[in-house]
Amino acid sequence: MPKFVYDFTEGNKDLKDLLGGKGANLAEMTNLGLPVPPGFTITTEACRHYLEHGTLPEGLADEVNAHLADLESAMGKKLGQSDDPLLVSVRSGAKFSMPGMMETVLNVGLNDESVHGLARQVGATEAEGQRFAWDSYRRLIQMFGKTVLDIDGDLFEDAIDDVKRARGSDQDADLVADDFKELVGRFKTIVREEAGRDFPTDPREQMDLAVKAVFDSWNAPRAILYRRQERIPVDLGTAVNICSMVFGNMGLDSGTGVAFTRDPASGQQGVYGDYLQNAQGEDVVAGIRNTVPLTELGRIDKASYDRLLDIMETLENHYRDMCDIEFTIERGKLWMLQTRVGKRTAAAAFRIACQLLDQGLIDVDEAARRVTGDQLAQLMFPRFASKVDGYRKLTKGMNASPGAAVGKAVFSSDRAVELAERGEDVILVRRETNPDDLAGMVAAKGVLTSRGGKTSHAAVVARGMGKVCVCGAEELDVDVKNGHFAAPGGVTVSEGDVISIDGSSGDVYLGEVPVEDSPVVRYFEGELPAEGGDDLVKAVDRVMKHADARAALKVRANSDNPEDSARARRFGAAGIGLCRTEHMFLGDRRRLIEKLVLAEDDGERQVALDALEPLQKSDFEGIFEAMDGLPVTIRLIDPPLHEFLPDITELSVRVALAGDDADAQDRRLLEAVNRLHEQNPMLGLRGVRLGLVIPGLFAMQVRAIAEAAAARRKAGGDPRPEIMIPLVGAVQELEAVRDEARGILEQVGKATGVDVPALIGTMIELPRAALTAGQIAEAAEFFSFGTNDLTQTTWGFSRDDVEAAFFSRYLELGIFGVSPFETLDREGVGRLVRIAAEEGRKARPGIKLGICGEHGGDPDSVHFCHEVGLDYVSCSPFRIPVARLEAGRAAI
Ligand code: PEP
Ligand code: MG
Repeated sequence: MPKFVYDFTEGNKDLKDLLGGKGANLAEMTNLGLPVPPGFTITTEACRHYLEHGTLPEGLADEVNAHLADLESAMGKKLGQSDDPLLVSVRSGAKFSMPGMMETVLNVGLNDESVHGLARQVGATEAEGQRFAWDSYRRLIQMFGKTVLDIDGDLFEDAIDDVKRARGSDQDADLVADDFKELVGRFKTIVREEAGRDFPTDPREQMDLAVKAVFDSWNAPRAILYRRQERIPVDLGTAVNICSMVFGNMGLDSGTGVAFTRDPASGQQGVYGDYLQNAQGEDVVAGIRNTVPLTELGRIDKASYDRLLDIMETLENHYRDMCDIEFTIERGKLWMLQTRVGKRTAAAAFRIACQLLDQGLIDVDEAARRVTGDQLAQLMFPRFASKVDGYRKLTKGMNASPGAAVGKAVFSSDRAVELAERGEDVILVRRETNPDDLAGMVAAKGVLTSRGGKTSHAAVVARGMGKVCVCGAEELDVDVKNGHFAAPGGVTVSEGDVISIDGSSGDVYLGEVPVEDSPVVRYFEGELPAEGGDDLVKAVDRVMKHADARAALKVRANSDNPEDSARARRFGAAGIGLCRTEHMFLGDRRRLIEKLVLAEDDGERQVALDALEPLQKSDFEGIFEAMDGLPVTIRLIDPPLHEFLPDITELSVRVALAGDDADAQDRRLLEAVNRLHEQNPMLGLRGVRLGLVIPGLFAMQVRAIAEAAAARRKAGGDPRPEIMIPLVGAVQELEAVRDEARGILEQVGKATGVDVPALIGTMIELPRAALTAGQIAEAAEFFSFGTNDLTQTTWGFSRDDVEAAFFSRYLELGIFGVSPFETLDREGVGRLVRIAAEEGRKARPGIKLGICGEHGGDPDSVHFCHEVGLDYVSCSPFRIPVARLEAGRAAI
């Protein structure tokens, strides 16, 4: 039988799968000899069993009994013992941190008897002891009622307000023991009325029910949403940590705090964190009360502060990374309640990786492992212009999560979602956020709060999502109910007014502040030197150089004009992997295509083609020049022809309205549009099919490519064209086009006197092509996987329609964790890619293999391409640095 319970002395940091992050790290700290309150962890495996079967696994109860008995003997008291009770916290803790998304119950073990025992044990005076004990007891019933019995939390809050009103105060601090005693009575009544049962007074029953509630909270709606957002697998389950209680709310010599070993926003070294005197941990994370900076603790309690700094150094050296911690001081004694490798912004990730490298704590491979392509992408987002004169600065809050966000102020999560669904940019403004605001935070461009520090819920969650956040802007008076906030100087911002927030500086502006390129983009553009500049740019440069040195995959660009090609080259592209020629037929040239379609005989068709050829030739010359010396894969025209013709409805109406006077050209056009109209254009006359049906079209394109290459060569350039045939399903299609193309290349070679070698290859973007790749490779000098179409045709999903139609439901149901159009579906589409790569190589050893679907710029898909051993990925110019970094990381 598996072991379901681990004492903190038994686990270690590598057991996160089983013990969750919190449990594994509590065990690690315990074994490092750090002051952790004793306790034990129930495994994620027990949770998975419970979620699957609805019952706790056999043997769990016995194991819990044994571990509880050990804990009781270590503490010298029993759970809920009436004269001196052992109290425990019951906390969730999944493999991946999900801040505030799941449940916690504190003070488990209190009842009508043990509350007296607790009162006698604590407090300098009897009154103090009584007050503390009854306050703790009402907190237990409140938390238990909400999380275990699912009672609306407002009912408890209303009762507290009632009692405060009777006392003539609006402060918790004014309440005395009798008030809390009264609240305990009222809370018990609420429980009975709402849950139809009494609050359980048996401490062990309290604990068992709390454990189940934590397990159940894995499937709470906000936890599900958070997992989807953060791409955390749905089936991991949470562990449960049962830990002896320590109290930060026992007076002014007690308190609780959160700390980081480096600044999670910038990565700078120093002491960062927040402390709250005489409070319990939940108060800090929820951002409900304003905290003081951690350095203040040095003044309040120097001994604990020094010990804390010591522990922070131990932890950093041990984990070889930036850590965040939660701690509590109970009457001058420091306790560690949690640590983990801390979440950080993208800039902090790059800086910290290089600092640790310089400190000799990690090597350069590890530094590259510590950053991600997604983080690099975030650093490439634009930011506010450095000069923002003329814009009214409303206030400055804390720079909790960097970036520039502009949008309409909204004051509720629901409203944020509503407006965002209409395509509007919004900034969610709240006093503080709590886990129920998650949907609004996801929908908003940025989050602004008036309360809470850098470790408040808003800050932690926004940073995790890479969302812009300014928090603790205390000068703002936020009135959520009436939908406005007041800023200094008499400015009022109402719902719908546009504001701009700068998560890097904390500045908040009225109106729409213009944005500019980030320094990282300017570095890639070659406008900012790596040396002597910003330390962030230096860190990016260092990591990129290492990634490039390690990468096996090359990175090419999807580009169809000289400007994008030149930028792609500056960003490090090793060529062009996909030049979509149909993009060259838009705008004015659409008329020429119209003529081609309407042509009634070879002569008319030739006239249209002759007009197009020089235009195509000059397009290609520009691209060859930008990519001189590097391969340029040009794909012959792909989309359905009717896309170039007028809209069928509009044209029909025009012809009908004109009646007998209708223009002859319009009539012919309507006839052609009707003839070419398709129910499923994505599966219709596209790609190679078009080339075989319209004589001369592909030939014109191949001639333009060959002539452009010859012209470039004559001008001293080094063009390297590769001709790619789209949507091939059978080798015969490819053979026909290839033979014609070879003939044209030869002709142009003779006519210009310049030899124009060009590889001729195909896209693999239909399942049949993948399954017959061995045959196709006989005729193809390279394959490029078109995973957009391959995903569409493998799943039978229309790439234009289905994402909006049902993907969100599919994500909810866990049918997939992320859209297969975004991240390559390894099991299905990926299997076809593997088959085709293998059979292609067998038929033509050394065949060049690449990918040019959108997946070419997606980190996870880049790793897949590395595993399959492709030669290159191709993606949009702006994603090139991301793909380069991931190509390097995949090889480490
Ligand atoms: C593809 O199908 O993956 C591809 C790159 O081609 P397109 O997106 O132009 O169909
Ligand atoms: Mg395609």
